[in-house]
Amino acid sequence: MTLDSPADLLAYDREHVWHPYTSMTDPAPVRMVASAAGTRLRLADGTELVDGMSSWWAAVHGYAVPQLDAALRDQLGDMAHVMFGGLTHAPAVRLAQRLVEVTPDGLEHVFLADSGSVSVEVALKMVLQHQRGTGHPERTRMLTVRGGYHGDTFGCMGVCDPVGGMHSMFASVLPQHVFADRPPAPGGDVETWAAGVRALAERHDDLAGIVVEPLLQGAGGMHVYDAACLRVLREVADEHGLVLVFDEIATGFGRTGTFFAAEAAGVTPDVLCVGKALTGGYLTMAAVVCTGEVARGLSASESGVLMHGPTYMGNPLACAVALASLDLLESSDWSANVSRVGAGLARGLEPLRTAPGVADVRTIGAVGVVQLDHPVDTVAASDAAIAEGVWVRPFRDLVYVMPPYVTTDADVELICRGVAAAVAVA
Ligand code: PMP
Repeated sequence: MTLDSPADLLAYDREHVWHPYTSMTDPAPVRMVASAAGTRLRLADGTELVDGMSSWWAAVHGYAVPQLDAALRDQLGDMAHVMFGGLTHAPAVRLAQRLVEVTPDGLEHVFLADSGSVSVEVALKMVLQHQRGTGHPERTRMLTVRGGYHGDTFGCMGVCDPVGGMHSMFASVLPQHVFADRPPAPGGDVETWAAGVRALAERHDDLAGIVVEPLLQGAGGMHVYDAACLRVLREVADEHGLVLVFDEIATGFGRTGTFFAAEAAGVTPDVLCVGKALTGGYLTMAAVVCTGEVARGLSASESGVLMHGPTYMGNPLACAVALASLDLLESSDWSANVSRVGAGLARGLEPLRTAPGVADVRTIGAVGVVQLDHPVDTVAASDAAIAEGVWVRPFRDLVYVMPPYVTTDADVELICRGVAAAVAVA
């Protein structure tokens, strides 16, 4: 079979290619993207769509960004990749320096991982190895919260919500971690929630660490919670000798309005995972940044080393484009853009609060969420948005958007119209 036309390609895709969370026996419809530039995706049939998703939090500058393209071209002149075992290179060292600079004080050692899930796996190993190295091999379980999502690999699945989550069918083979309630929404009853967290920490003397997405839970329900909860977690971690891990893979690099979401609470974790927008959506890369104390503790574990080393660790192309993306964030007024996009989303989405079937509308930073009182018909909802010229990807009971920071006000309005159209048929 030749794959010359979009129709041929789509037919082959349907028969042979898995997409995220899809089936080979009952494939979900997909659309063929021909190119992407600025904040628009161009489909093979010529349709132009305003992007509401930033390719799942990543493409914060939009697509075909001249500065990012140039960084990749320049780096290609030197090398595309080289093993990181026993070798290092300028893009990796410079990126590590930038990450140490932009992350909160005290975070100083950088592991350059190849995806968000892997960075969470590495963070979990850091926690366990730190506990072993500091004389607590019996401390093996994580304290986390309901409604969390940290990735699809086995270690990550263990800290995702086991009940409402996407991985409940694997529950019997996952480590049994300890789950506190979902943290309350801003202005909610933090004290009762905190009492529950403290009780769990008292009851379980085998806890090693705490793992959460600060401020905004992503794929576990797009739930915004009270920043005070993060201060509670910091206190509990300190009182009980637990390593505090923040997963800022989705929230990092400005998405919720501060450069890192945890800054809203003034809390510094012991281990921070970042990914997604790290490379401006260009290449797969994530990073784990930890304190000196965690690094020293884990070095005293029986292996003496951090037990992880992926083939594409520190990929030079990814490092170079990440550096260029950080430059671009710094030189653009990302904070003003995030506020502007967020204000536009709030203006456009708030009126949906009274629409039939809508349970809640929430916005934070450059994120807008419409929660329905029933599961979304994903195909009908995305078709309706596409008819308005907008790309959204609803899931479960949510129609949500997180557009590139550079989206114009007019396009934010269009995105809101797309969401409204999706909600109307969902
Ligand atoms: N943690 C969070 C909070 C995420 O949103 C994601 C990605 N959906 C991950 C971890 C996993 O990242 P990746 O898909 O790059 O493995």
